[in-house]
Amino acid sequence: MFGSEEPYANVFSQFLNFEESWGCPDVNCNRVKEQNVITGDFVFDNATSLAYIINKGETRNCNGRIGDFQYNSEKIRVEFNFPHNDPLPLIKFTLHINVADGRTAEVIPLEQHYLDYKYRLFAYTLNKGEHYLTVLCQGSSKFVYDGLSSNSLKTYKQDETHLLSTLVYIMDQ
Ligand SMILES: [Zn+2]
Repeated sequence: MFGSEEPYANVFSQFLNFEESWGCPDVNCNRVKEQNVITGDFVFDNATSLAYIINKGETRNCNGRIGDFQYNSEKIRVEFNFPHNDPLPLIKFTLHINVADGRTAEVIPLEQHYLDYKYRLFAYTLNKGEHYLTVLCQGSSKFVYDGLSSNSLKTYKQDETHLLSTLVYIMDQ
C-alpha cells in the first residue's frame, strides 16, 4: 500500500497532533503561560505510554527565562488535549526498535481511552528483521497484509519472532 513504513508514518503524522499547555508558577518567567501543538511520530517503550501521558499529563523542567540570562528550573505541569477539543479520528504511535520486552502482539490492549474517548485497536505492523507486515483487526479476527507474499489478505497466525512496530487505534463510535 505504502511500499515501506516511512511514507506510511509520514501520512499519519500530518494529522496526528495534541495540544499541550502549561503555566509556570514563577510570575517572572517568560513561559508563565503557554500553549503549543505537538505533532509527529510519537515513539514509546510500550503500548500504553501515550495514553498514560495524554490522560495524566506530565511534569517537566520549565527552562523558561527570567530576565536575559537565567534559565528557570521550576517544575511545570503539562496538560494535554485534542486541538480545539476535537477528538482525533485515529491515534498512531511507534514502539522503540531497541526495546524487545513487551513488543509481542499479545500484550497490546484492544481498547484504549484518550481524554474520555474510547479507541479500539485497528491495525499494527510487525517486523522481523528488515521485513514488515501489517495486521488488520476486525472484531476478534486478525488479517495480515504481507507485501512480499501476495496482495491478498490472510488470517494472521501468531509468530513470536515478529515484534510490534507501529500501532493504530481508531475512535470507537
Ligand atoms: Zn518558568
